Amino acid sequence: MTFLEFGFLFPTKKSVIDYFVELRFGTQPHCIHCGSVKVYRKNGDSQSRFFHCNDCSTEFSIFHGTIFYNSQTDLRKWFFAINTILLAKKGISALQLQREIGCTYKTAWRMLNLIRKAMGNEKDRQLFEAIVEIDETYVGGRPRKKNWHADNKPLKRGRGTTKTPIIGVKSRTTKGVYARVALPNKEGKKLSGKQLLGILLECCKPNNTIVMTDEFRSYGILDRKDSQFQRLCINHSECYAIGDLHTNGIEGFWSLFKRGFYGTYHKMSVKHMQNYLNEFCFRQNNLNKDSDDVFELLVRQCIAA
Ligand SMILES: [Zn+2]
Repeated sequence: MTFLEFGFLFPTKKSVIDYFVELRFGTQPHCIHCGSVKVYRKNGDSQSRFFHCNDCSTEFSIFHGTIFYNSQTDLRKWFFAINTILLAKKGISALQLQREIGCTYKTAWRMLNLIRKAMGNEKDRQLFEAIVEIDETYVGGRPRKKNWHADNKPLKRGRGTTKTPIIGVKSRTTKGVYARVALPNKEGKKLSGKQLLGILLECCKPNNTIVMTDEFRSYGILDRKDSQFQRLCINHSECYAIGDLHTNGIEGFWSLFKRGFYGTYHKMSVKHMQNYLNEFCFRQNNLNKDSDDVFELLVRQCIAA
């Protein structure tokens, strides 16, 4: 939603708490320990985040078990951050959020990281079917040269690089994207056929999906009879598309992700890279939905995180 709509929906501290309580508990708040509905706001304060349960005589925070728990930051600032990350096509840096909501860099970074994690916390994800495109890309900085004189060769690009590989699958029907960081397997081998097949099985209906790939050797596993997928291959050394046979959809997603990487984030550690992917996938997968609904969906995922 726009900045003005956000202001209208959440004019006061109470309005944010009320919105949250309704999303989490519906019309009747209940005790998170015993389930009793005999719960009352602490000291009768309608803005309080604490409830007291008369049945088990315990006090609980409405944020217990959500990403907002253990945070001193006002919920309105959290919601503002959620809305901002949804609007920012190429992502938002912690420095920018720090300036916008007035908090420390560390707080802003922590908030964004937790929101990104929640963005990957999808429930009831629909499996892709019909036609999908699969492709991989490499992100990360140039590795440091160990010895300047001995190792003066140019660094390898593409599939020979030491950067981190990520694999993405895009559905032609829903335009949804599923992407995963591909860490090397036990033998140190990156992007094995098995790994690629495993990712396809996580996001697509087997026996019901045609997969468009480029000529990369590891996709050969899809040509095997027991792979449960039908593969169509475009050889990029010859041309990039023959009619509908191309992988341009997923490559467009990579270019957006890389714009975020180079333009907004500058650096992503391998440890947190999956969270950044979650962020870009979430925005892509909810592109044509009403912005209020997408905001609500993300707050729900933050509650269940
Ligand atoms: Zn209770």
